[in-house]
Amino acid sequence: VAGAAPEAPVLRRYAEAVDAAHGELTRLDQASGDGDFGDNLRSGLRRVIAELDSGGSSGDGFDVAGRVFLDEVGGTSGPLFGLLFTELAGRGDGDQQVRWARGAAAGLAAIQRVGEAEVGDRTLVDALAPAVAELERGTGFAAAARAAAEGAQGTAGLRARRGRASYVGDRARGLPDPGAVGVALLFQALAGTDG
Ligand code: ADP
Ligand code: MG
Ligand code: MG
Repeated sequence: VAGAAPEAPVLRRYAEAVDAAHGELTRLDQASGDGDFGDNLRSGLRRVIAELDSGGSSGDGFDVAGRVFLDEVGGTSGPLFGLLFTELAGRGDGDQQVRWARGAAAGLAAIQRVGEAEVGDRTLVDALAPAVAELERGTGFAAAARAAAEGAQGTAGLRARRGRASYVGDRARGLPDPGAVGVALLFQALAGTDG
């Protein structure tokens, strides 16, 4: 049933936040890359919401998001967000927040397996890794969202060692990595279900 899955409100909140941040995400990727990150993330989420609204999709919301981002969203970030959404999906019974915490950890592992970025390389890993660390401490998604936001802001002082931004040297210094900001917004949306 459309909208019944617990993921659907998270994805709707996330899509709204990304719509609002589209200009900033574009500007950040113009400074450090090719400028398409805001478009990639926004268009992917719009397709996800359209599919959820149509009610015809099987699987939970993160299943849909994983499939859309892996199959249809371009850029480096498309498949990487696809891996994260895929791992956030499903994961059996039990407390939803525990399942999402496990999913986020598995998503980080999958992203690092594929992209080989470590913390400090100025990528979305710099927002995701500290958020996963908070979740593993059991402090909940609000704390994880704060850690992700701090991690994203911290990329402003880093020189990129992965992705397109690694070609532009110090040009983007002082501005955060767009992918990290995008991940921080996802954790904000997940934290909206706390408490
Ligand atoms: P592209 O450079 O292909 O246009 P996007 O603009 O869609 O990619 O996404 C850029 C974001 O992807 C960066 O801000 C960074 O966070 C993330 N990224 C790039 N390379 C990697 C990597 N190897 N591991 C993790 N994240 C990466
Ligand atoms: Mg780009
Ligand atoms: Mg691109």
